[in-house]
Amino acid sequence: MSLHTLDAAAGDVAAPAAGAPASGAPTRRRHRPRRWVPDVAAVATGLGLGASVAWPISQTTGAALRSPGGVATVLGDATAMAGTYLLLIMVLLAARLPALEAALGQDRLIRWHRRTSSAPLLLLGAHGVLTTLGYAQAGRLGFWNEAGSLITTMGWIFASVVAYAMIVGIAGISIRAVRRRVDYDTWWVIHLYTYLALAFSVPHQIFDGTTLVGHPLAKGAWIVLWLSTAGVVVAFRIGMPVVRTLRHQLHVVDIRPEGADVWSLVVRGRHLERLAVAGGQYFAWRFLTTGLWWHAHPFSLSAMPSPPYLRVTIKVTGDATAQISRLRPGTRIAIEGPYGAFTDHARTRAKVALVGAGVGITPLRALLEDLPPDVDVVVVQRASDERELIHHSEIEAMVAARRGRMVTLAGSRRRHRLDDPAHLRRAVPDLSGRDLFVCGPDDFSAGVVAAATALGVPRRAIHCESFAS
Ligand SMILES: Cc1cc2nc3c(=O)[nH]c(=O)nc-3n(C[C@H](O)[C@H](O)[C@H](O)COP(=O)(O)OP(=O)(O)OC[C@H]3O[C@@H](n4cnc5c(N)ncnc54)[C@H](O)[C@@H]3O)c2cc1C
Repeated sequence: MSLHTLDAAAGDVAAPAAGAPASGAPTRRRHRPRRWVPDVAAVATGLGLGASVAWPISQTTGAALRSPGGVATVLGDATAMAGTYLLLIMVLLAARLPALEAALGQDRLIRWHRRTSSAPLLLLGAHGVLTTLGYAQAGRLGFWNEAGSLITTMGWIFASVVAYAMIVGIAGISIRAVRRRVDYDTWWVIHLYTYLALAFSVPHQIFDGTTLVGHPLAKGAWIVLWLSTAGVVVAFRIGMPVVRTLRHQLHVVDIRPEGADVWSLVVRGRHLERLAVAGGQYFAWRFLTTGLWWHAHPFSLSAMPSPPYLRVTIKVTGDATAQISRLRPGTRIAIEGPYGAFTDHARTRAKVALVGAGVGITPLRALLEDLPPDVDVVVVQRASDERELIHHSEIEAMVAARRGRMVTLAGSRRRHRLDDPAHLRRAVPDLSGRDLFVCGPDDFSAGVVAAATALGVPRRAIHCESFAS
């Protein structure tokens, strides 16, 4: 259970055991997430959406509605406001807002971000059609003539049409079936163009939007909404990671093999006792070296911080992880995080089962270390063969020290079917009375969750971490 590493900076100095701070300084505890934050955010979002729709409707008169194109125009305004507002909500869902992230976890926020995505696209598409129709009816022009005239005579409308086309394209490559064919880095770079598209769309809203032009208060509120969203993105996606990176000055000190294509990366930094992190959380790691600096990769801590050391355990699955396994001691690292709600704070009962497969055992290893001593633990470690039982002896020793139970299942899928309720019950007979934490390949986790549900574990007691993005 030790990080026993060579500290490149200080010569052959053995690092301390994982979990026992080297400096004697206690690591900062992560605060319990504030469960009311998502509820308050949901109510505020609903009120904001209501106000965005109600404002243009409240500004219209009966006479305007009865005039040619009146209904289409007011509906066009309402869909514009609602669609744009929901686009901002999508940006906020992906903005790594710490209070929301801690309560819900990044994976859930990103799931909502994806699920929301069709609504603003449909609403903004409807805005384009309805407003053009309304103007065409009012001016007694054909629809396409009106569309051509709006685009060619009003520059900001042209910019917003380009922005809309970009957003539709970005949404298109994010559809699961398309996304699977595009490599992650290409998808990520294209996704960044969303910010450019949003910037293109702003002048049309401010200078052309009939619901805002001539209404300084509404226009002011709308501008504040945009500026606050931009401020949140800059603060939490750029500012906070830069501050953490400068404060902790992380660099690689050792890389050691743990199994077939699996490596532990030991990292040294300053003031790690001030880093509030819970077992089971992850950081986005950006290795500041040629070829790797421009994209961050999420890796869970595989041990609680042991100041001045952190450890992650990485399976080589592609180009980046292969390069990481060859990094040199001294390589500097920028971090974002910690992120994730796969922690003890999510636990609802005094008994837990930690079920991990392959490299999915790593966050469970750190979570095990972080669980209060009175929690009754069963750990199930699954691997296709014994060489893939990562950190097995560490986990075994920790389970024994807390008088828990360890179940090791190495071998073929057919022999150890944890997606079969009968097999799962054999591994953890009292599973229905435990919280279940599961991490592994997605099909493995889905199978275990389905079997656990069949055995009567309630949904709120099931916690799943996915390594797929
Ligand atoms: C919350 C979380 C925690 C993780 N913890 C660990 C861990 O402790 N140990 C471990 O070995 N792996 C972990 N992973 C998986 C790890 O991030 C990917 O395997 C790694 O980024 C793959 O990079 P690659 O370029 O070598 O592989 P590729 O073959 O390019 O990618 C393999 C898959 O990894 C995902 N991926 C690639 N790049 C990124 C990225 N920058 N951000 C997010 N996902 C990406 C994509 O789904 C891709 O299909 C974690 C993933 C997540 C989401």
